[in-house]
Amino acid sequence: MDRRSFLKTLAVAPVAMAAAATRKPNIILILADDLGYADVGFTGVKDIRTPNIDRIAHEGVTFTNGYVSHPFCSPTRAGLMTGRYQQRFGHENNPAYEPMDPDIGLPLSETLLPQYMRKAGYHTGIIGKWHLGATAKHHPTARGFDEQFGFIGGGHDYFKASMEPDKREYNIPIERNGKPVELKEYLTDAFSREAVEFIHRNARQPFFLYLAYNAPHTPQQAPDKYLDAYANIADPVRRKYASMILGVDEGVRGVLQALKDEKLEEDTLVFFFSDNGGPIAVNGSHNTPYRGAKGQVYDGGIHVPFAARWKGRIPAGKKLADPVISLDVFATSTSLAGVTPPNIDGVDLMPHILGQAKQPPHQRLFWRTGGGASFAVREGRYKLVKIGANPSALYDLEADISETTDIAASNPDVLVRLEAARLDWNKQLKPPLFQSPQPAAKKNKKA
Ligand code: CA
Repeated sequence: MDRRSFLKTLAVAPVAMAAAATRKPNIILILADDLGYADVGFTGVKDIRTPNIDRIAHEGVTFTNGYVSHPFCSPTRAGLMTGRYQQRFGHENNPAYEPMDPDIGLPLSETLLPQYMRKAGYHTGIIGKWHLGATAKHHPTARGFDEQFGFIGGGHDYFKASMEPDKREYNIPIERNGKPVELKEYLTDAFSREAVEFIHRNARQPFFLYLAYNAPHTPQQAPDKYLDAYANIADPVRRKYASMILGVDEGVRGVLQALKDEKLEEDTLVFFFSDNGGPIAVNGSHNTPYRGAKGQVYDGGIHVPFAARWKGRIPAGKKLADPVISLDVFATSTSLAGVTPPNIDGVDLMPHILGQAKQPPHQRLFWRTGGGASFAVREGRYKLVKIGANPSALYDLEADISETTDIAASNPDVLVRLEAARLDWNKQLKPPLFQSPQPAAKKNKKA
């Protein structure tokens, strides 16, 4: 090496070393759709095998009081993408699939998680279900995602997709960056394959991947290879449901293997959770021991299987019992990326996971559906639930995990405190900007 090259090496080396030391972790957010609380191994399922999803929990942290910000699909995703209670900006219902209506979808005034991540130098991708508006301006590639593969509506047929625009929401094209592509595989497998390819393709730069499976949401469809694995389950609805979860679990296997192959396990934070509780009357899901189901603010609608893995940073087998919420994924991701979005409701979970925080992440968590049709407030062990015109009920989740016994009458001070907090929070919210389309509204009611 001549002198000039040697000096060049000296000048470059410290910079390269500093860059390595401060490498920002990749973030992978894996979402299941309508997966019941009790239907993965790490929350106690017996008749379904989820060894790969369970690895995220066993090799990382389980949030035993992990909540989503809404008991059904689109509002939860709106909260996830903004880090804010979605009622603050009127996104309280499912948007109808309306490719020409600019008022139906996640309001364009909001700045989304992938936009912040991109600003922080991340390559951003979404694979799977969007459900946050169907116009060109609402498209994920117009809202911060560098890459997109998946569908724009709220659900999809798992075997058939049109190559042309289609009025039937569940038959619309599967797209790559907005352009229709042929669906050649079971849809869940297509998403998994794309996720693995995304990881290999982007392994050398910080990336944010939102892998939003629509499984095990209806229609209940699975290929024989997954159905055959559950020939022992007699109930045909439960059997199909289990088979669809197997597809997701196989996908998670591929994602974790790709991280290992690329030596990225210690550089990647992987989240897994369901977008709402199981619609037990519809898809054979179980939310045991929680009361209620998708669509409701009882824990069965909002308390979900929730885990995160970051090898080398999060201790394996950690359990965090403090209530956390899907909005925290936003705050944790942006904090790790080194950006500070204004006006968010979530908090960075890392200090809590690592035992460095003195206070729990949240003093209180809040829920509202239907512009005020139902409310819930969680504060420590207590939960206030208000349904319709009924007086607010109060439950002690430590003594009564299934919300069976209203203790409001014997705890007037707690009731008054949580009722005041509910009303104060409600004042900060907007009325819903749009209504859920009729079939979805019926389904939610049923669930
Ligand atoms: Ca859902």
